[in-house]
Parts: sequence; C-alpha cells; structure tokens
Amino acid sequence: MSFRPDPWACNADLHCHSNMSDGVLEPAALADRAADNGVELFSLTDHDEVCGQQQAADAARARGLQYVGGVEISVSWGGETVHVVGLRIDWTDPSLCAGLARTRAGRDTRAREIARLLEIAGVPDAWAGALRHVGNPALISRTHFARHIVECGLCDDVGEVFRKYLVEGKPGYVEHRWARLTEAIEWIRGAGGVAVLAHPGRYRFNDTALWALVSEFKAAGGEAIEVVCGSHTRDQFRRFAKVALEAGLAASRGADFHSPGERHTELGQLPLLPDSVIPVWRDWPEFLSRQAA
Ligand code: AMP
Ligand code: MN
Ligand code: MN
Ligand code: MN
Repeated sequence: MSFRPDPWACNADLHCHSNMSDGVLEPAALADRAADNGVELFSLTDHDEVCGQQQAADAARARGLQYVGGVEISVSWGGETVHVVGLRIDWTDPSLCAGLARTRAGRDTRAREIARLLEIAGVPDAWAGALRHVGNPALISRTHFARHIVECGLCDDVGEVFRKYLVEGKPGYVEHRWARLTEAIEWIRGAGGVAVLAHPGRYRFNDTALWALVSEFKAAGGEAIEVVCGSHTRDQFRRFAKVALEAGLAASRGADFHSPGERHTELGQLPLLPDSVIPVWRDWPEFLSRQAA
C-alpha cells in the first residue's frame, strides 16, 4: 500500500513577499526562514512580479522544502482592489509575464502622483525616500512610502501610515485601475496555475457583494480561497471555511509575511486548515511526493 500524507497536517505557507515586491527579505532568505520555521510546502507570491521565483525555488529545494511557483495579482473589482494569488504557475509563461509587466507599468505613474500628494501633505523627500526602500525598480508600492514615512518619524508604524495617508479619502491616496478579475485568472490558468482569492476578509464588501465576487471568481475559473491567512481573525477562519464549502472552492493557507519588523504573522506560524475544507494542495505532486524522497 502506498503512503499518502495527510493534507490537513501539512504546514503549507503559500503567501508571502520578498524585496522584489513590498517585502524586505531576499527571496532566498525567505525560503530559509520558511524552512527554519518548519514550513513543508512553500510559495513566494510577490505582487505582480515573478523575478524572485527562481531564487526562492532554488533556496527552498536546497533546504528540502517543496516549492510551488507563485504570484499575487492586483485586480480592480466592484470599485475595490482585490488580490488574486496564482499557485503552481509556470513563472516563465509569456502571457502571464506580459500581463504582469502591464500591471507593473501603471505603478510607476501612480507612485509619482502619490509622492507629489504626500509632499503637499508635508512628507519630506517622498519620492527619493520611498525609492530608498525599493528592492526592485520595476515595483513601487504604497508600502515603500509607508516605510519612508515611519522613518521620518511622522507615524509609529506602517499601519498608522496607511490609516493617515494612504487609504481612500486620505491625502496620499491615488485611484488606480488594476487588471480585470477575468484576465488575472486567465493569466494564472494559462500558466498552468491555480487561482486563489486572497484574504477575502480584508475587502470592504457586504455579504451580497462578497458573494457576487466569489461567484464571478469561480465562474471565471478560480479554484480556491484563502481561509487561514495572516489578515484573518479566528472568526474569519470559520466564516471563510463556510464560504469555501458553500462555493465549492478549495482552501489555502498563508501568512502574507512581509517583514520581520512589522508585526506580520510569521511564516508557517498559523493554525492548520479546518477539517471541513479541502486543502488546495491535496492532489499536488509537490505535496504527495513530500515524504516519498
Ligand atoms: P499597493 O499594491 O502598492 O497598493 O500596496 C498594497 C500593499 O500595502 C498590501 O499588499 C499590503 O502589504 C500593504 N497594506 C495595505 N493596506 C495596509 C494596511 N492597512 N496596513 C498595513 N499595510 C497595508
Ligand atoms: Mn503587500
Ligand atoms: Mn494582498
Ligand atoms: Mn500579499
């Protein structure tokens, strides 16, 4: 009889960021940290960027950690920014790479406008200051501005900067048009990957709008939803486990770790998925081969 590992017992962490997007650690350092924390199945999911994938994969494999290619795509839906994680992607896929390049291109113009508005609001040296935190010139994020503002002493932490400067209605907010939900899912599926609706508890939707999002996501080929993640409370683990079941979606798990110094949930240190949901990795060869080696 062949041995089949238990998918519910697996310490999978399938959502985090390196300094190729708005995290602070190099891709290889993240893989090392994941291994040190007992993660068994790992993915780096930088925002709109895959240039750290090879480094993360090599470092993970060197530590005996199973790796799947990942990305987190910024999408505009229902007047909000929604994030879609792609897992098990072929990160060299040309249409995926072209779509991500287009998504990144808009960030530069947006960042220049954010910098202009922040300077008017009294943030010194906003453009150059944010750039000092950027690890990949192709990807400037609001987080880089937030780190600069903390460094200036205007706020105590990144969360406070978002509340005071960077969210809708605040002085540094710039409206932006990201990818469409359907195209992001197409890029992921075209690259052989699985589309996962990221941190559903973070969106400001009422139940009706959230259900519309989940239905549209599924109809467009989305296959899973994050149930246990760094931005969910325990109540939200239960709530989104129910949503996963009712919608017929698999469940994913990931810390959404960005930086050791910013009160993020630590890699691999989350509760396991509840028994009621189907772990998205249940039939993946990377998971099944884990203990065969
Ligand atoms: P961007 O893609 O440039 O709009 O930046 C989005 C990123 O900002 C997210 O991926 C988070 O890492 C971070 N972020 C968004 N909202 C908050 C918040 N309220 N507190 C801390 N970080 C946040
Ligand atoms: Mn981020
Ligand atoms: Mn996100
Ligand atoms: Mn993320």
